[in-house]
Amino acid sequence: MERVHIKASGEYDVLIGPGLLARVGEMAARAVKPCKAAVITDDTVAGLYGNAVQHSLRAAGFSPCLWAFPHGEQHKTMDTLAQALEWLCAMEISRSDLVVALGGGVPGDLAGFAAAVFGRGMRFVQVPTTLLAAVDSSVGGKTAVDLRGGKNMAGAFHQPEMVICDTDVMAALPDELIRDGSAEMLKYGILDDPALFEAMRSGAWKNEMEKTIARCVAIKRDYVMADERDMGRRQFLNLGHTFGHAVEKCSGFVLTHGQGVAIGLVMAARAAGMDAVGIESACAACGLPVTSPYPADRLASAALHDKKRRGGKITLVLPEAIGKCRLQTIDIKELPGYFARGTGETP
Ligand code: MG
Repeated sequence: MERVHIKASGEYDVLIGPGLLARVGEMAARAVKPCKAAVITDDTVAGLYGNAVQHSLRAAGFSPCLWAFPHGEQHKTMDTLAQALEWLCAMEISRSDLVVALGGGVPGDLAGFAAAVFGRGMRFVQVPTTLLAAVDSSVGGKTAVDLRGGKNMAGAFHQPEMVICDTDVMAALPDELIRDGSAEMLKYGILDDPALFEAMRSGAWKNEMEKTIARCVAIKRDYVMADERDMGRRQFLNLGHTFGHAVEKCSGFVLTHGQGVAIGLVMAARAAGMDAVGIESACAACGLPVTSPYPADRLASAALHDKKRRGGKITLVLPEAIGKCRLQTIDIKELPGYFARGTGETP
């Protein structure tokens, strides 16, 4: 088992290894004295892992209960959050109890936000069941729901007591979900780690999943610890995302986050004037697209509604080489030019 220790406003471990889902209770008991454990998940994950997780919590002395909402990003809303909070009330959960956020990014973000606000804040444990959640959304304490005005527009910084990632669950994921997580893993390689980038490109990472996930979590940890509330260094984690979110948005979210990020990584490299061939081949090797189906002007206007925009400025993450990126704050008037270079419409 790999263990990555995180020291933010809260201090906690990310545990990564095979067979951990059946040991969630035992692991959680290392950080939290047995109490009521309110598992919040979606209907898909509840069907796959709900019983195993509740069984393991019970075996470790917790009193589990479970609530599942319909799966999909379209349910990551204030309405679902309100239902979750009312359910916690109905179950007579108190702030000294525990929320278990079980699932991919959507249940993780929503359950984390419920834990952040219920009783003005209670403890929670993250149990990611997708690769994307394991390497990204479950780490760093960002919780949120979507508003009609934009993704993740209402939320809170709230660190978990522990993150428990079962690599057997990751290995059993459908290809589509592996691909989606791969995009964020490529991102970490481009930011900080040429060896990780190569392992992703060659596919070697699949034989060392435990180590590779731990490496990704450790890279994210370093950015989060330097800048928990996302005012400076943490912005590097947006590599590929300003471009990628625009692509996702233009597709009406038919393209997945990972697909958007992959296209965004290629666009960021081109916009920075870097030779993007290596990134293109790595994305393709991971089964990810590399070309935006939308023209630069449409993408740029979608991006102007990005929450990362501060006043008339926007900060882009631009790669210079694999393992080396820089932040560049530009005037939003310059943004269409970066998009045009990103899509290759202008050299
Ligand atoms: Mg992302």
